[in-house]
Amino acid sequence: MNSKSWVGGANAPEADFPVQNLPYGVFSRAGEAPRCGVAIGDYVADLAALERAGLLAESGFSAPVLNPFMARGKAAWAAMRARLAALFTEGGDPALRDDAALRAAVLVPLARAQLHMPFAVAGYTDFYAGRHHAENVGIMFRGAENALPPNWLSIPIGYNGRASTVVVSGTPIRRPLGQIMPPGAELPVFSPSQRLDIELELGAVLGQGTEMGTPLSVAEADELIFGYVLLNDWSARDIQAWEYQPLGPFQAKVFATSISPWVVTSAALAPFRVSAPARARPLLPYLREPGPMLYDIELEVRMRAAGQERDSLISRTNARELYYSAAQQLAHHAIGGCRMQVGDLLGSGTISGPGKENRGSLLEITWGGKEPLTLTGGIERRFIEDGDTLTLSGFAQGDGYRIGFGSCVGTILPAPKPRAEWRDG
Ligand code: MN
Repeated sequence: MNSKSWVGGANAPEADFPVQNLPYGVFSRAGEAPRCGVAIGDYVADLAALERAGLLAESGFSAPVLNPFMARGKAAWAAMRARLAALFTEGGDPALRDDAALRAAVLVPLARAQLHMPFAVAGYTDFYAGRHHAENVGIMFRGAENALPPNWLSIPIGYNGRASTVVVSGTPIRRPLGQIMPPGAELPVFSPSQRLDIELELGAVLGQGTEMGTPLSVAEADELIFGYVLLNDWSARDIQAWEYQPLGPFQAKVFATSISPWVVTSAALAPFRVSAPARARPLLPYLREPGPMLYDIELEVRMRAAGQERDSLISRTNARELYYSAAQQLAHHAIGGCRMQVGDLLGSGTISGPGKENRGSLLEITWGGKEPLTLTGGIERRFIEDGDTLTLSGFAQGDGYRIGFGSCVGTILPAPKPRAEWRDG
């Protein structure tokens, strides 16, 4: 499919939302109830209104989340994608295009739409599937000899995060308070995190679940993934360093995870599938990929210092740098019998590339704070200061069009004031 749309803004070569994309989200205008929509050009098309007008099959789009639609399954997703493409393609079904009143009701300018969490997050698991990131962090913490943990080349390592604090792009993020062991100290202190960071990740959204006790093959796992979002796994590195052994991150990660508002479907990304990198160690058969399951998605991180007008590009990488695909992560997740649910979110882990300019976290970019970053305006940063804004963006580049993700933005607010009784002495 390489076609044009009659909707404004959809055909520009750098548009995020051409008719080939059709990502799903949840939106409202001021005073309205949130409902499902699809992004097309400079607009969000109101899917609940299209459903009421009889132009779409009944699909649960009046709900304030995509879960009811996702639960209908892969055949329904494919049928809806074909139907929406027909409605929005030049020379397709004229039912919407030629009905001025309906068009005015259905097409809401993106600039006037408030975007909400696109789905109810059933569970959130964060993986660590980027080899460059795992090696960089390993070199910093354990030295070059032991950069990768011994299990890393065999297992897509993950931990269970908090679904309750997954928020949509634009939600302000409060700096966490926590327990920190200062360098050289013997006892920990209680303080706002001083080493607040981002993690540039891709999130896989499950549109179908499994029964408890039912393993999945990698191919079956791939079929359950409805789509992908950009994901910023905000991380408090000082809290993490003190708490993470032996059970992994806890308070360092639970305070916030931001996602982009549009779920880009696996169907839209299908032309951009690429093979995983060569295996440094053979995988056990249950984890082997039957075909290309990573995606060629260009990713960027921008940072704007508090009080500044302009942001700076601080990283550029690609989702194909991952070592394990989301399908492999999901197959590993389910293999022991874990029940997976509609609305589960799987974070990929930080996606860094081979070069210095391809690093997906400030921890790596500033090498643990040792090599400060200079932003536009000559401002230096080691980690995130209050008032700083971080923006992730991404797209898959097609022939004359892009499958865009939009952006995932968050601004850091000051930590809550510690209560008097929490202070020492
Ligand atoms: Mn992470």
